[in-house]
Amino acid sequence: MRMKRLLVTETVNNTDKQVRLNGWVHMARRMGKMVFVDLRDVSGIVQVVFTPDKAEVLEAAKKLRSEFVVEITGTVSKRPEKLINKEMATGSVEVQAEGLKILAESKTPPFEIVETEKMDASEELRFKYRYLDLRRARNQRTIIVRSKLLKFMRDFLHSEGFIEIETPILAKSTPEGARDYLVPSREYPGKFYALPQSPQQYKQMLMVAGFDKYFQIAPCFRDEDARSDRAPDQFFQLDIEMSFVEQGEILDLVERLYTEMIKKYFPEKKITFSPWPRISYAEAMAKNKTDKPDLRKNKNDSNELAFAFIVDWPFFEAERKDGKYVAHHHIFTAPHTEDIGLLDTDPGKVRSWQHDIALNGYEIAGGSIRSTDPKVLEKVLELVGVTKEEAKIQFGHMMEAFEYGVPPHGGIACGIERLLAILLNEPSVREVVAFPKTADNREIMTGSPSDVDPGQLKDLHIKIVKK
Ligand code: ASP
Repeated sequence: MRMKRLLVTETVNNTDKQVRLNGWVHMARRMGKMVFVDLRDVSGIVQVVFTPDKAEVLEAAKKLRSEFVVEITGTVSKRPEKLINKEMATGSVEVQAEGLKILAESKTPPFEIVETEKMDASEELRFKYRYLDLRRARNQRTIIVRSKLLKFMRDFLHSEGFIEIETPILAKSTPEGARDYLVPSREYPGKFYALPQSPQQYKQMLMVAGFDKYFQIAPCFRDEDARSDRAPDQFFQLDIEMSFVEQGEILDLVERLYTEMIKKYFPEKKITFSPWPRISYAEAMAKNKTDKPDLRKNKNDSNELAFAFIVDWPFFEAERKDGKYVAHHHIFTAPHTEDIGLLDTDPGKVRSWQHDIALNGYEIAGGSIRSTDPKVLEKVLELVGVTKEEAKIQFGHMMEAFEYGVPPHGGIACGIERLLAILLNEPSVREVVAFPKTADNREIMTGSPSDVDPGQLKDLHIKIVKK
């Protein structure tokens, strides 16, 4: 039977044992009559030594170049005291090679697969060869940490009684203040699906359906103009909705989740305030002139995390020239009960049950208690300039659902990429996804967006009008 594969970092617990390792040649060098190979796999790197007592194997090892894929069998031995490499996790051992199979050769990569923090190649080149860029230690760590944090979120919420539910990707347009990505329907000429800007309407329908604690790690799509600091057009949110709750319970939940997660995976980080302060929008604007203040005591300390909730938002942003209003969060947000009358008399003064989370100068989450009174929803739609007919087409299903016993509910959506970028000290949210788009929104590895076959366009009843 074939020997079980061992990850290279497990060699340290397997001295004097025969092992099988699989991975990439990180580096191969000849020294005297021997060949030394740094063998890399998803767990790290270990040194393998080829010696003349296995002449044939040594001969084969002389052909090894960086990034060749190999299978090596050998025996793990402890290094003599003076040869221990303290910089390396496996620096106390090395593997004496007894067998070698070259599973695949490799061209010389367009940039070095470094183990250090440095990102020397241009973003364009790195993203074109993202599968090589991802072989680097820093990026491997990012993707692995991402997976661990998502698992933590899932486990935490399941243990709190939440149910994970997927909502459609081919969906109906729901307004979150950005342009929709549209997908033409082949079967219904002239009609379109929209990729969800968020699962907002579906998650509220799930509350009407009685799943009173919902969550999803939801892909969201927003077609925004290129700006270097903007969020990517495709991103993920930890999307949460709960019935029969007050605002404070939603905030407590997220505070506990993030605090426990950071304690477990980032013990070196310091959370500035505990509990996280709850600051009114008015106070944040007066003191900090922004609704996402950076409240760190030492702004140069990348290990400091100053979380704060921003609450008591005005329902609307400043009135537009055409007399219409724009909701600060979204139209499904509930106004403070005592301010409902102001919707008729002085809408600019209405406060809402919106809540955001600010972290080190970034908005990392937003949500609200929802408006479940169809009359209030109708009034808000009128103020934001949606006619009665449009409202019926766009939100008729919600109004109708709310006539069949709607529980009071509210929720929040927490951006995954921004949080990760802050926790990992990455300069850009693009670095924390496996296959990012460039700042101008191209995915250069596969080349999207791209032309499509004219036949596909015909099936979709689409004609391209060239500018
Ligand atoms: N759907 C909202 C957003 O994506 C969040 C929420 O209200 O739960 O910003």
